[in-house]
Amino acid sequence: MNAQPLQFMQQHLNTLHDRHLYRQLRTVAAGAEPWVEVDGRSILNLSSNNYLGFSTRPELKAAAAVAAEVAGCGSGSSRLIAGNSERHLVLERRLADFKHSESALLFNSGYSANVGIISSLVGAGDLILSDQLNHASIIDGCRLSRAQCKIFPHCDVAALEELLASTAQLGHQGKVLVVTDTVFSMDGDLAPLAEIVCLCKHYNALLVIDEAHATGCLGPGGRGLAAQLGIEYEAMISVGTFSKALGSFGAFMAGPNLVREYLINVSRNFIFTTALPAPVIAASLAALDILQQEPQSVEHLQQLAAFFRQSLQQLGFNTLTSQTHIVPILITDSALALQMASELLVQGVFAVAIRPPTVPAGSARIRTSLMATHSRDDLLYALDAFERVGRRLGVI
Ligand SMILES: *Cc1c(COP(=O)(O)O)cnc(C)c1O
Repeated sequence: MNAQPLQFMQQHLNTLHDRHLYRQLRTVAAGAEPWVEVDGRSILNLSSNNYLGFSTRPELKAAAAVAAEVAGCGSGSSRLIAGNSERHLVLERRLADFKHSESALLFNSGYSANVGIISSLVGAGDLILSDQLNHASIIDGCRLSRAQCKIFPHCDVAALEELLASTAQLGHQGKVLVVTDTVFSMDGDLAPLAEIVCLCKHYNALLVIDEAHATGCLGPGGRGLAAQLGIEYEAMISVGTFSKALGSFGAFMAGPNLVREYLINVSRNFIFTTALPAPVIAASLAALDILQQEPQSVEHLQQLAAFFRQSLQQLGFNTLTSQTHIVPILITDSALALQMASELLVQGVFAVAIRPPTVPAGSARIRTSLMATHSRDDLLYALDAFERVGRRLGVI
């Protein structure tokens, strides 16, 4: 066989190696997070997005098991063919109630939701204004839409206003869509959402907000940042996921019924994909039940995060602009970030190095994320490891 056509792959991988940007899969034995087994050792997990620890809750497991028994493991086809079940509709109704929205529509993942929604809302001749640090799935949705995309500096309301004003002044005929994460996944900071919504209202722009890291983590009952700020805007479409705090899988949009109907008819990521299977839907319903019964876990998560963040700062670490349960520790150099992560692992702490292109060049970091199921002792154990490794490597 001629290996020549594959040659470019080896060259590309070699380049990544040279730049300390090579990526490798690591096996983490599933178990009772926040302690996980890595290479046969029990390690404190500071890298999970299972923020409320729901993924291993007996209620979710039981609901999934029962649903698998009753309805099987696969849904058989797309929602529009024969894959739609009463369960899907029940979950969408529950989501709409949870989000205080008129309706909700399930997507198979957050990635798929962002790509499918953005590419359905705008097209050639339209304009997207997107925060510089938006998630990759938003970026891909923008690219696929064929709309013109302008990136505004991270959380820069003045820059966004300038773009909107100049667009209006130039007599732009197409639609304008503003899109932003609410909690940024690598920085743990918050979008200036109240100001963004004001601008969108003033300039009649569509707004898509991605609450992937805010769902279950912020706001009253874990309803997200928009709920925390009391924001209502008719042309706002909110994306949330089940894959993070809610401990299950899949995603949803919450918004007006008109948007739901439109997406069912237009979104290729909804139309041309198999419906989420019953066990996943059942687990997601159970997660919403628990969240409703235990709203205090949302506040507990943020309290733990504040303690951890302030303790790191007191040790001399730079936690960037984090205000949430996602706490980055700036290292800058990719090789040093990798070394820090590997020494933390030796000390029993699992916190991954995040490097370009996931974050901007020169801002390699250790990204930690808190779980409501971390104990204070867990965090003291982690802080002790961070202090020792940080001093040894000259980070603090
Ligand atoms: C994780 C994430 C997604 C993707 O969600 P999945 O359900 O994992 O596909 C989308 N947006 C943001 C901001 C995320 O952090």
